[in-house]
Amino acid sequence: MSSDCLFCRIVAGEIPATIVRETATTLAFRDIDPKAPVHVLVIPKVHYADVATLGQGDPELAGQVLATAAEVAEAEGLLADGFRLLFNTGGYGGQEVFHVHAHLLGGVPLGPMLAR
Ligand code: 5GP
Ligand code: ZN
Repeated sequence: MSSDCLFCRIVAGEIPATIVRETATTLAFRDIDPKAPVHVLVIPKVHYADVATLGQGDPELAGQVLATAAEVAEAEGLLADGFRLLFNTGGYGGQEVFHVHAHLLGGVPLGPMLAR
């Protein structure tokens, strides 16, 4: 828990969020500024800065984040039409919050993967 990390504070209950799923090790909550009809952030409860440090530091936990994302995708009705799961990472990736989070996006056709 890092008191200056926004998402650690959501895990701690210090900042409100619309939680859609919680497991022993992960949390999923709606993005405050949704970019699609469904936009959920899925995080490990323990702090890792980004998907690179999570994937190398605790691959089992990384898998649990993916499992929670899949469960939320199913619960939100996204499996039939498809969805996008992405981890913005570092400066070029456009990461703004440095507690690793998967963006689960769906509910409409999402267009090309990258703006051109
Ligand atoms: P990033 O650019 O780091 O990949 O994405 C950060 C995401 O966190 C953004 O989509 C932004 O809307 C979301 N966000 C920022 N602050 C909050 C907050 O206080 N609550 C929630 N639920 N989402 C937030
Ligand atoms: Zn954190």
